[in-house]
Amino acid sequence: MRIETLLSKFAIKGINYDPLSGGGKALLSAEEQLAVVGLCWHESPVGWLLLFVEGLRDVHALKLLQIATRGETLRLMEDWRGVYPEKALTALCATAIAEATQQNGQVCPECNGSAIVVDKNRNRRKCQCCKVGRIVWTQETRFAYFAQVLPVTYSRFKRYHNVLIMLTGWLLKNRTIVFISLEERLNSEKLAS
Ligand SMILES: [Zn+2]
Repeated sequence: MRIETLLSKFAIKGINYDPLSGGGKALLSAEEQLAVVGLCWHESPVGWLLLFVEGLRDVHALKLLQIATRGETLRLMEDWRGVYPEKALTALCATAIAEATQQNGQVCPECNGSAIVVDKNRNRRKCQCCKVGRIVWTQETRFAYFAQVLPVTYSRFKRYHNVLIMLTGWLLKNRTIVFISLEERLNSEKLAS
């Protein structure tokens, strides 16, 4: 039951697993959970797709999320002065989705997320290049990600950065809408029962 996995991952109040009931039993049955998701889906399809990518690494959801994000990117680029290549849209979408689905940062490639590295004397040391195993998002690390798709100069990227911030904000706003609509729905279910 993937919906169950998803909701438990985000520990959504009322829908998550109750540790006291033993055996990890969900407070709502799988059918009830599906029904709640169905009822809340229309509030923010983009937010749900984001959660499916973030929580379940769902490939199909990622494709749909990329299409939706591209639409929003085109809208944001309407005010753009000058020319930009098609690949700029791809780079913007990829970077915004990467940040919105990994808000704490990307897994550090030097310590593989453990935050510990072994030096040449075989001593364990705190990894110097990350924060608790994660490469946090800054204008610089966004540039590094963006430039994998569109290797422009840093100064050129700074222009795209403004759009990128709005795009990531749009994704995260949709993510929040899902949680708010779920909580509202669960509260009204509780009142009804
Ligand atoms: Zn590290």
